[in-house]
Amino acid sequence: MTEFGLIEQISKMFATIPANGFEGIGDDCAVLPIGDEESLVFTADMLAEGVHFLRRATSPEELGRKSLAVNLSDVASMGARPVATLLSLAIPRDLPQGWIERFMEGYRDLSTQHGVALIGGDTTASDSGLIVNVTAIGRTQSQHLKRRSDARPGDLIAVSGPLGESGAGLRDILNGQYDTPLAHIHRNPTPQVAEGIWLGSRPEVRAMMDISDGIASDLRHIMERSGVGAEVEIRQIPTSVDIETAATAGEDYQLLLTIAPTKADTLLKEFEACFHKPLIPIGRITAGNRLEWLDHGTPLDVEWQGFRHY
Ligand code: ADP
Ligand code: MG
Repeated sequence: MTEFGLIEQISKMFATIPANGFEGIGDDCAVLPIGDEESLVFTADMLAEGVHFLRRATSPEELGRKSLAVNLSDVASMGARPVATLLSLAIPRDLPQGWIERFMEGYRDLSTQHGVALIGGDTTASDSGLIVNVTAIGRTQSQHLKRRSDARPGDLIAVSGPLGESGAGLRDILNGQYDTPLAHIHRNPTPQVAEGIWLGSRPEVRAMMDISDGIASDLRHIMERSGVGAEVEIRQIPTSVDIETAATAGEDYQLLLTIAPTKADTLLKEFEACFHKPLIPIGRITAGNRLEWLDHGTPLDVEWQGFRHY
């Protein structure tokens, strides 16, 4: 069974239990309205040694930052401001003295940068590798929330930065080359926190999510939840590596969003003025249910799939 098949099965098993006011499984975060105007959002992401990282190929500080970064990315992709985290660690007995302290320095660096409190967690021993589990909580005005389910035919599809470099960096790491620029990018994702909050405040942004498994997988989540199709001009995908890697490799942690077509030009200009970098248009939402890859308007005969950990 695939990761998404299992999640669907779990979701069905629990569907008869009251949601107690939460919008649950299926988006980057769960949502709980508080009062009339605001909402809290919740997300959890786990990093397991040997699956998400090799201990010999990362510094403890980098892993501390990345563990938090991937969670901040999910909060920001809802248009929300991250406010607090819970951190759970399963620590192998052979971990060198001082390793966890250095991991925590990295986790604290990024927490400080974004003003995110550490409010709890759990600490235990592990008989296999190191496991890091983070729960992040965000807060926003409810009308700023961005979901995967609000894309409409005609919307412009855009991304917030280069894709595929992290995936190419992972290839370097698996080839034993830990010091390449791409390997560095892989270990040091930058969550688009200010960008996500800003885009959340803009009503012309319709659907939004973060790109953790490649647009070949993640764009399909927007399509399924919005009941739409999409076409992507592959040569517009921003990347310094090959286009297939850019479309299918994981862990970019850029934002993927759809924008109401009549307001898109203004939004792109204002984003660039604010962040000194562009939002990059890569395609259009369509009325169908297919994902088409186009090369200068000509459909390509490829079946690109996103990255799977599981
Ligand atoms: P993301 O890549 O944004 O972190 P995932 O693809 O990991 O999202 O998860 C998709 C959805 O499924 C999310 O809403 C997530 O909270 C939910 N989910 C994932 N694993 C589980 C699980 N074991 N139990 C319940 N919900 C889960
Ligand atoms: Mg996500």
